[in-house]
Amino acid sequence: MDERDFFDENETRKPASLNCAYCKQTDTYEIRWLVRTKKKALRSGADERDRAKFAKAQSYMLRRDDFMQCKNPRCRKKFEISGVQSVVFC
Ligand SMILES: [Zn+2]
Repeated sequence: MDERDFFDENETRKPASLNCAYCKQTDTYEIRWLVRTKKKALRSGADERDRAKFAKAQSYMLRRDDFMQCKNPRCRKKFEISGVQSVVFC
């Protein structure tokens, strides 16, 4: 059984306050996240090992964006997102 059988997947956007690495301007950016929400129950066909893994599984979010384009019209550079974790447990 694949890890995907344990979770429902959804995409969401969450605002975060980020600093551009070039012009240092702070602004709010919408970051895309993949949300994996643990299912209420396993589908039939799960064996002992799947059940044990499922019991330990936890809902989490994966950050989809690694770069943002600066909102400062005089900058507009792509900067790497830092200070925001790439995996967050819900
Ligand atoms: Zn900038």
